[in-house]
Amino acid sequence: MITEYHRPQSLEEALRLLVREETYPLGGGTVLNQPTERSYAVIDLQNLGLDRIHKAGNVLQIGSTARLQSLLESEHTPMALKTALDLEAPLNLRNMGTVAGALVACDGRSPFATAMLALDARVTVVGGQETADVPQSTVLGLGDILPLRDEQLQRRLITRIDIPLNVKLAFEMVARTPADRPIICAALAQWTAGRTRLVLGGWGASPSLAMDGSSGTGAEAAARNAAHEATDEWASAEYRREVAAILAKRCLKGIA
Ligand SMILES: Cc1cc2nc3c(=O)[nH]c(=O)nc-3n(C[C@H](O)[C@H](O)[C@H](O)COP(=O)(O)OP(=O)(O)OC[C@H]3O[C@@H](n4cnc5c(N)ncnc54)[C@H](O)[C@@H]3O)c2cc1C
Repeated sequence: MITEYHRPQSLEEALRLLVREETYPLGGGTVLNQPTERSYAVIDLQNLGLDRIHKAGNVLQIGSTARLQSLLESEHTPMALKTALDLEAPLNLRNMGTVAGALVACDGRSPFATAMLALDARVTVVGGQETADVPQSTVLGLGDILPLRDEQLQRRLITRIDIPLNVKLAFEMVARTPADRPIICAALAQWTAGRTRLVLGGWGASPSLAMDGSSGTGAEAAARNAAHEATDEWASAEYRREVAAILAKRCLKGIA
C-alpha cells in the first residue's frame, strides 16, 4: 500500500528521496498501485521529462517514463517490437504502463522484455550513491539488470533505454489464443555484420538468452538447449524445446 507520495521536479530531488528506506520509483503505477500488505513510499517520475522517444542516428533513445503505447505508436519502433508490445498488455495498461516499469516488473513471459533483450537494450541508470548530490549515470545491458533487478536498482532510477535501429528483428510465438501471453516466444536480432542474438521467453523469472553469435548458424540447437529446463504449469520442457527450434527457424526466415 502506498503510504507516502512524492512528485519531485528534478532528478536530483528524486534521487535524494530515493535513498530513504522502502521508497520506490513510480512509473505508471499499474504494479505499485496493486493492493499489498506492505507499506511504502513512491516517487512519481512524471515531472522529470523522461518520456521522450528520440531517434539519434542508428539508436532509438527511449525515455524511461515513455508509455508502452507511445513506443508502439512511434514511427521509429521496429515492426517486430510493435508486435511484442501489442501482446504485452491491453490498450488501457499500455496507456498507463511505462517502458522502465514494464522491464522492472516483467517476468519470463513478457514478449516486450524478450524482444528488448534480443536487441541488447542498453539501460541508463542514475543514483546508487549514499550522497546523491551529483547524479552519476551508468549504462548497463538489460541482460545484466534482469536477473539482479532488486540489487542493481536499489536506490537507483532508470532514465533511458537505448535500442539499435540498424538491426533486423523478428518475433515469433505460440500461445493459447492469438492475443494471449506466450507459452513460448522467440525474438531474434541480427546486426549488419552478422551478430545474431536469440532470446526465448514464456517461462521463469526473465526471458533467456539462447545465443549471441557472429551469425545465425546454430540458432535452432541453441534454442533447444535454452529450453531444456523450461517446465512449468503451462508446458513441459520437452514441448518447449521442440517449439523453440521451430520458432528460431521462423525468425531466421523472417529476417532473410
Ligand atoms: C490489472 C493488471 C493486469 C496486468 N496484466 C499484465 C500482463 O498481462 N502482462 C504484464 O506483463 N504485465 C501486466 N501487468 C503489469 C503492468 O501493467 C506492466 O508490467 C506495466 O507496464 C508496469 O509499468 P508501470 O510503469 O505501471 O510500473 P510501476 O507500477 O510504476 O512500477 C513497476 C516497478 O518498476 C519500478 N520502476 C518504475 N519506473 C522505474 C524507473 N524509471 N527506474 C527504476 N525502477 C522503476 C517500480 O519501482 C516498480 O518496482 C498488469 C497490471 C495490472 C494492474
